[in-house]
Amino acid sequence: MKTKEIIKNAREFSKPFRVTKGKNFRLKDVDPEDTLDFTKEDKPKSKEALARGITALTELQDKLYAQDKWALLLIFQAMDAAGKDGAIKHVMSGINPQGCQVFSFKSPSSEDLDHDYLWRCMKCLPNRGHIGIFNRSYYEEVLVVRVHPEFMAKQKLPSKLAGKQIWEHRFEDIRNFERYLTRNGVIVRKFFLHVSKKEQKRRFLERIEDPLKNWKFSSNDAAERDFWDDYMKVYEEMIQETATEKAPWYVVPADNKWFTRVVVAAAVIDALASLDLAYPEVDQSKLKELAAAKKKLLS
Ligand code: ATP
Ligand code: MG
Repeated sequence: MKTKEIIKNAREFSKPFRVTKGKNFRLKDVDPEDTLDFTKEDKPKSKEALARGITALTELQDKLYAQDKWALLLIFQAMDAAGKDGAIKHVMSGINPQGCQVFSFKSPSSEDLDHDYLWRCMKCLPNRGHIGIFNRSYYEEVLVVRVHPEFMAKQKLPSKLAGKQIWEHRFEDIRNFERYLTRNGVIVRKFFLHVSKKEQKRRFLERIEDPLKNWKFSSNDAAERDFWDDYMKVYEEMIQETATEKAPWYVVPADNKWFTRVVVAAAVIDALASLDLAYPEVDQSKLKELAAAKKKLLS
């Protein structure tokens, strides 16, 4: 299959999951088990599609890097065990590590808390020509911080600024920040991996029962399940408030990892393919330089 065709398929495949206008978005309209027309029997086919996608992605990243103008920022948000790490690992497996940076944002350090909340993320923005991945991000500021007000208390904000209007202000600032990035050539794509509560339980039990997966489990993960409905509410509002044409959310069904990964890969291909990526043109003086170098090497 030609790259052009893969790009066309990627656009169509990822489109149903893209949210560019949040106003009417409802989380209940996305089924975490959704696999479009594909059944479990299609799993091997999906692996082939992913492999083809990764080849196309490699080609696109090579141009992105060589051209050195655009940057791509991919943001991953999800409940625990939704498959963020696996999606990042698989989709980025063909990518040249030199042109890719991954950052995980966990509980903020005291140095982080001594600054505005975007500070620690701004320091990690991708260079031009690079793909930057945020495994969690400043979006935690309208998620976990909303569900657990005690985190807000640690932020040392002047009380005048920490009133009820704070969420509206944060949404506005995030929208503006992403518009700023877009206007500077940093393309933003955001992924919410939407796993069901039932599938999360199954994955937690697997992590507890399989000694090789024990390290992935923390008892805090199980405790957070008690806040499931609160999280769904804040996730929904986050998407409603921050999905834009230029910085869309992809709400990706995450109960079937093989499907999630193909959707994420397709969305990343679509993002890169929407740019005018091209290898830099070599000017006359550079051509002369190359010819002279060749002559010298061969003499
Ligand atoms: P894993 O899949 O390995 O569990 P993870 O991304 O959940 O990966 P953890 O170390 O388990 O990583 O958790 C990071 C925790 O940090 C999450 O519970 C997240 O909500 C929390 N966190 C991230 N940013 C903030 C923030 N700004 N304020 C408070 N907590 C935050
Ligand atoms: Mg965790």
